Amino acid sequence: MSRPYATDEQYERWYIGECCRCGRRRNKAGSWPDGHVCRTCFDRALRVRGTCPGCGQERVLPGRRPGDGAAICPGCAGFSQSFACARCGFEGKLHGGRLCTRCAFAGRLASLLDDGTGRIRPELAPLADALLAMDNPLSGLTWLYPRQGSSGSADDLLRRLGRGEIQLTHEAFNGLQPWRAASHLRDLLMACGVLPAVDKQLCAFERWLGIHIAAVTDSGHAQVVRRFATWEVLPRLRSRAEKNPLSTGARGYAVGQVLRATEFLQWLSGRGLTLPGCRQVDIDAWHAGSSENHRNAVRPFLQWCIANKMTGRFRLPPAVTGHSAPMPDRERTEHLGRVLASYALPLRTRAAAAIVLLYAQPASRIVRLTVDDVTCENGEVFLRLGDPPSPVPGPVAGILLSWIGSRTNMRTATNPNSAWLFPGRRAGQPMRPDYLARLLNEIGIPTAAGRTSAIRQHVLEMPAPVVADALSYSQGTTARLAAQAGGTFSRYAPGDHKRQTAGEGDS
Ligand SMILES: [Zn+2]
Ligand SMILES: [Zn+2]
Ligand SMILES: [Zn+2]
Repeated sequence: MSRPYATDEQYERWYIGECCRCGRRRNKAGSWPDGHVCRTCFDRALRVRGTCPGCGQERVLPGRRPGDGAAICPGCAGFSQSFACARCGFEGKLHGGRLCTRCAFAGRLASLLDDGTGRIRPELAPLADALLAMDNPLSGLTWLYPRQGSSGSADDLLRRLGRGEIQLTHEAFNGLQPWRAASHLRDLLMACGVLPAVDKQLCAFERWLGIHIAAVTDSGHAQVVRRFATWEVLPRLRSRAEKNPLSTGARGYAVGQVLRATEFLQWLSGRGLTLPGCRQVDIDAWHAGSSENHRNAVRPFLQWCIANKMTGRFRLPPAVTGHSAPMPDRERTEHLGRVLASYALPLRTRAAAAIVLLYAQPASRIVRLTVDDVTCENGEVFLRLGDPPSPVPGPVAGILLSWIGSRTNMRTATNPNSAWLFPGRRAGQPMRPDYLARLLNEIGIPTAAGRTSAIRQHVLEMPAPVVADALSYSQGTTARLAAQAGGTFSRYAPGDHKRQTAGEGDS
């Protein structure tokens, strides 16, 4: 590739200069009457608009009035270039073809959604209108900017929609990749009425189901799981969704049922059995070796198998709703390891789950915590659940502080004065305990009062820093935990209490 400059010094002289607005040495993005400007200052100046103090016109105000530095229009500032869109005349940042952002976006959309006849596929006109009505066309344009080396980005999806290669049905969208862009696009299509409105959680479940079944290696298992999901799980979700929007909890519950069904089949295979050969002793053995959550989640599958004569008739242990069984240390550290390693989970959920698992606090207590209950002293973080405050082990402290940090942004928008650690939807109110409990149940953390007291008993034996030791985590080992998630974690060594300090156990 030939370079238009001979030496680095020449490059430096031609392309780099001190920005007259911010003073940094940067690539020159423009030569303006007051000097060279960098890209950042260039773009920023073109977002300023209002009444020009020089001529009184409503215009873009990228110029600087000599003397007081007031923002003035290009005319008054003596710009040689124009910032007016070649198509609509709007003044601002110009893109290719000297078009403003909205016109550039409209042009890009028109070419992507072209059905081959030089116009937008008629069914998609409402989509184009909705996109162009966005407040911030720049975000739309960025969205449509093809990412290098990625087939199936938003622009690719739109192009295939325009050509009719993607049917305008929900089924067609279930299998599309990348799913985030596809799911965003599906929301837009529902919002503008091109696709019939369907439940968001139901869509998410169906998409998940497709991926899950594709990953089941045993084709016989895959077939049974598909039938169970299609004839048992989905109809129940659909009829619920017809009455009310599904909660993420309802989706999580359905996901759990399918996962347990798959695991049960794999477990049977491991014993050299298939469903027809499964005996009461196998059922009993499975139940004996499973957690209460898993026992409850597999029940619909086993009932379905019995009802459809895929197995013999079994006695299933009664559904457990009591919560007397204490959570074993192993389960507690596993849960905590999973929470720490699950970067994809919302920070809010991770923060609350970590507090439950470390300190066995019921949801009703957690929602009463305020940001002032989280304190920092000499680089250590403490949580005031009682007196004295309990130390928070490093990785959990990181999650708590990040959550508080991201929470602050939200403050200005909806809850200006909220000091609640977990603010609710209603101004000035904390999150409702049942809502928090649901968030945690979704990720498999039991929060029912009985269960937390069951953990509590273990907190006495295994305070937070000891749990941390048991996981032997540091910031660097969370990746290893992620790989192990679902497997076994290093076990709690009863003799290893070196970091235990008095007073944490009963806080
Ligand atoms: Zn600058
Ligand atoms: Zn002016
Ligand atoms: Zn324009």
